[in-house]
Amino acid sequence: MSTIEKPIQAETNGAAETRAIAVENPATGTTIANVPDMGSGEVVAMIARARRAQLAWDALGFEGRARVMYAARHWLVENRDRMLRTIVEETGKTREDAIVGDWSFVVDSLGFWAKRAPKYLRDEHIRPHSPFLLGKRIVVRHRPIGVVGVIGPWNFPLNLCFGDAIAALMAGNAVVLKPSEITPLANMLMAEGMKAAGLPEDVMQVATGRGETGAALVDGADMIMFTGSTATGKKIMAQAAETLTPVSLELGGKDPMIVLRDADVERAANAAVSYSMSNGGQICTSVERVYVEEPVYDEFVRRVVDNVRSLRQGVPGEPGAVDIGAVTFGPQAEIVEGHVKDAVEKGAKVLVGGERGEGPGRFFQPTVMVDVDHTMKAMTEETFGPTLPIMRVRDVDEAVKLANDSNFGLNSSVWTKDVDKGEQVARRIEAGSSCVNDGLVNYLAQEAPFGGLKDSGVGGRHGVSGIRKYCTAQTILVTRFAPKRELHFFPYSARTTKVLERGFALLYGRKRSN
Ligand code: NAD
Repeated sequence: MSTIEKPIQAETNGAAETRAIAVENPATGTTIANVPDMGSGEVVAMIARARRAQLAWDALGFEGRARVMYAARHWLVENRDRMLRTIVEETGKTREDAIVGDWSFVVDSLGFWAKRAPKYLRDEHIRPHSPFLLGKRIVVRHRPIGVVGVIGPWNFPLNLCFGDAIAALMAGNAVVLKPSEITPLANMLMAEGMKAAGLPEDVMQVATGRGETGAALVDGADMIMFTGSTATGKKIMAQAAETLTPVSLELGGKDPMIVLRDADVERAANAAVSYSMSNGGQICTSVERVYVEEPVYDEFVRRVVDNVRSLRQGVPGEPGAVDIGAVTFGPQAEIVEGHVKDAVEKGAKVLVGGERGEGPGRFFQPTVMVDVDHTMKAMTEETFGPTLPIMRVRDVDEAVKLANDSNFGLNSSVWTKDVDKGEQVARRIEAGSSCVNDGLVNYLAQEAPFGGLKDSGVGGRHGVSGIRKYCTAQTILVTRFAPKRELHFFPYSARTTKVLERGFALLYGRKRSN
């Protein structure tokens, strides 16, 4: 039975909304809800309401806002079964994937930002270095940007949409969420939770709809936090340029894993399977390609194949019932299938899986491929499915070269028992983050910045910069004790010019070697 019992109607500004989007459970193929497909008029009205509500929300201060976040955390824990069922139904993922990737992260994040926001955004007192500014006080303050539009994807509906709103809200902004049209229900439920937690009306609203709804938000919001495909990210950046609206873009990935000859092969193989296939491989930071040094290649492949053969796929049911759920988004199944076919046509060998699973839901079998190379889409384009292509390499240099032969640069990993060497190799990889003997879990370090290079994005989330991006910095210079006339004031005179010139020559004229 669906968590959302009946079609949900939009709260519009008068006009009844007739267009609707059917939300499907991809594991069963059944429609579980209908949500409004909001037009630009409704988005504009939402932004206007958000703008009015933002001022009082900001005035509440960090403590007042933190109280709401802690109450929301409590609500999310109390209502976890409802939230988890909603996420599982709209994505077709397992309950375990919903717990790890969506629910627990957001629960943690609510407290993280409630606690850290005041520290990360506290006024900074700067000691100016310029001789012109002797005795002056400079303070930098971070004030909320206003209304933040958060546009999210379907793979982690709660984490990568509402999850990105938490820092924005703690900074004192109002937020309009535009969840993916494929998976809007978790965010709608979370809006209910925020209301129950005491969030004032209109501080966070949910605009359900497709790309056009998102585009209306880009036009009206003061800042856009976007997570999704590189193609859409580029469109959003171009559109935002028209209004000089700042954007933070978290886009696709093609994360490499490098297994060196001195790795713990058993751990590396287990991790390769988990980190390429959990959440059905629909993670931006999934292991998408593996490079293994010759001496351990055969053992690595054997262990991966044994592991993948034991995976259970199907409709998520009781906890622990299956390991891999459905393909959430219809066209993604075609992309995954296309990558496997393309690789096979070019000489790859499928060792496990390789085909779509049985219906009525939408599944793709956990798949392992070898004899792959960079002429194949499976090694160069984002697959976003439960596939693991493995390539044999001569040495570490070839592995690094191939890892960097990519338009993407999100996450990456290096596997070796020599952790110093591992770190040195990690530093050579062109990616926003790298793990040594680990993968994915770096995302949980919310204190550290996370973001992509190249086609994987612009800006990032987490850490100090992950909340300051939702603010504008204002520098305030205060002069307290000062003469009636400074040396550089009008009128210019030969005497003061000479004093200034000599003063600077004395200060900076000394020769130094470093
Ligand atoms: P998508 O780009 O198709 O859609 C993402 C969101 O953008 C949806 O809400 C969609 O309605 C909206 N949208 C579409 N066109 C728009 C437009 N012109 N203007 C404004 N909004 C628009 O992406 P998707 O298929 O939902 O998500 C999968 C992608 O997300 C993958 O490429 C994956 O790698 C990426 N992703 C990246 C990260 C990261 O942190 N870097 C995390 C998760 C997913």
